[in-house]
Amino acid sequence: MTVASSWIDGALVKTGGAQHTVINPATGEAVAEFALAQPGDVDRAVASARAALPGWKRATPAERSAVLAKLAKLADDATSELVAEEVSQTGKPVRLATEFDVPGSVDNIDFFAGAARHLEGKASAEYSADHTSSIRREAVGVVATITPWNYPLQMAVWKVIPALAAGCSVVIKPAEITPLTTLTLARLAADAGLPDGVLNVVTGSGADVGAALAGHADVDMVTFTGSTPVGRRVMLAAAQHGHRTQLELGGKAPFVVFDDADLDAAIQGAVAGALINTGQDCTAATRAIVAQGLYDDFVAGVAEVMSKIVLGDPADPDTDLGPLISAVHRAKVAGMVERAPGEGGRVVTGGVAPEGPGSFYRPTLIADVAETSEVWRDEIFGPVLTVRAFTDDDDAIRQANDTKYGLAASAWTRDVYRAQRASREIHAGCVWINDHIPIISEMPHGGFGASGFGKDMSQYSLEEYLSIKHVMSDITGVVDKDWHRTIFTKR
Ligand code: NAP
Repeated sequence: MTVASSWIDGALVKTGGAQHTVINPATGEAVAEFALAQPGDVDRAVASARAALPGWKRATPAERSAVLAKLAKLADDATSELVAEEVSQTGKPVRLATEFDVPGSVDNIDFFAGAARHLEGKASAEYSADHTSSIRREAVGVVATITPWNYPLQMAVWKVIPALAAGCSVVIKPAEITPLTTLTLARLAADAGLPDGVLNVVTGSGADVGAALAGHADVDMVTFTGSTPVGRRVMLAAAQHGHRTQLELGGKAPFVVFDDADLDAAIQGAVAGALINTGQDCTAATRAIVAQGLYDDFVAGVAEVMSKIVLGDPADPDTDLGPLISAVHRAKVAGMVERAPGEGGRVVTGGVAPEGPGSFYRPTLIADVAETSEVWRDEIFGPVLTVRAFTDDDDAIRQANDTKYGLAASAWTRDVYRAQRASREIHAGCVWINDHIPIISEMPHGGFGASGFGKDMSQYSLEEYLSIKHVMSDITGVVDKDWHRTIFTKR
């Protein structure tokens, strides 16, 4: 059993909070024990980040890039350790951790090692005849980061790495139940040469450690990935001090299947898009909106593929679907599915929690749901796909946009004009055409509306962590400047 703690000022430290046990949701067994941090430990971590900031901010882009490139290499070398930790603390299938979570994180670190050396701005020039103007991009400062449990390593990387690339120092609080890979990331960063204090990890619950970090007076920015209600609380806490925020929140992605779509591709894409990470994915396909003429075949096809999905030990490469993160979360998902028929929904397959240990839940398809129903409107965050039919393209787009969220969406069609119209009309931070889920380090991820604002990944994310400064230099050396006469005429 690993004994983990918090990582402050370049070392694992003993924190004063209660002991906490990390549980494997596939077995219910203990994976690790660690001492929770307390608000006083948050103060220590923020002070360490503040002290480390000037040196890291002044390091050249090439020096920061070298540390990140080494970190990417060390994380790649540590793949089996990171996979084992991620599988045991989240219950995600080993295939997903091996082919998505860890290589995606390594690639993201590698991307920002390069991006650190590519700062952009307007050309320096004499925009006024008497002055030269130039743009500086400077690190925002100390960044407080709070992350969720569904992709612990990737979410940490998406927030921490662009901040480091920009020259910021960071204090991150991972979800209390999934701290392991974030602590390993901090250790690997130290091994890569990151100076002490530039990256700190405080483990603990959101209610005390998270709240203390989000509302800390001595950070400069708060970035958050998690649910919409908590994100708004975090924003309020940061607003007390006027701190910059960046929020990646919940989603309820539409999956629109037009009548000219490749039906087999749409069926397979819907199952993959709905079941990734046991549906605990903010961009997961959750609302299938299907042309009336394809509706029955789509429902039958999805139900058939779902019925063949293999649940089991996440460490077994033959397992398709792992458990939900906890028994409490499974009860929430099951409750929503059980209430669906009362609102007109038809549970076509699934809706079952298998006997035995672990918080497993069968892939579930609910057809004919009402537009007002809870399963259509609210985030379920489980292996559940809901389906409705549409009458014409306008109705499809209307239904796709009839949500407070705006994180991701997909449109399935072989008509290039329709695809372009859908990508224009659907209100979401990402619209896939004939696919759903893929992400790449070069392109941004981030939502609209109740899904938050700001971007993770890509050059756009680097900009979140940079402040723009205008430097304007007089080039005349003249005492009696023309514009002074606007203010006074006699000296
Ligand atoms: P959550 O309950 O909002 O928790 C997220 C983080 O906030 C955790 O570290 C949590 O700590 C902490 N927290 C809770 N209360 C807090 C408070 N009052 N002040 C400061 N921090 C607090 O979300 P979750 O259940 O972990 O994750 C699932 C949600 O994340 C879903 O809504 C999903 O859509 C969203 N998500 C969004 C994206 C995206 O990119 N848009 C990506 C992944 C997930 P503890 O858990 O330790 O208490």
